Amino acid sequence: MQHQGSCHCGKVSFEVEGEPTEVNECNCSYCSRKGFQLWFIPRGQFKLKTGEGELTTYLFNRKHIAHKFCKTCGTQAFAYGEYPKGNPIAAVNVRCLPDVDRSKLKIKQVDGKSF
Ligand SMILES: [Zn+2]
Repeated sequence: MQHQGSCHCGKVSFEVEGEPTEVNECNCSYCSRKGFQLWFIPRGQFKLKTGEGELTTYLFNRKHIAHKFCKTCGTQAFAYGEYPKGNPIAAVNVRCLPDVDRSKLKIKQVDGKSF
């Protein structure tokens, strides 16, 4: 299964391979403010189609996660990070995948605030 995603203005677009079943909602200072529902996938399942030059990167805390958002509309559709062993991952904001029925997803509460 493939899903198409984009920021709001459409300058940034991407596709992801796979089917989300469970997403993370995290209570850290950043995720709370943005209201993310994140789906973690190996980076190889994520393909940026357009907008590389339209993205701004935000780093905070230990700076392990590169939060990418569109310079024009501010939408953050994904972030890049790594698993502890170094495998690259993408954290996809499923709110930016219009064809995903989010009412079917299992929500996992993550206590990022205490990390
Ligand atoms: Zn945009």
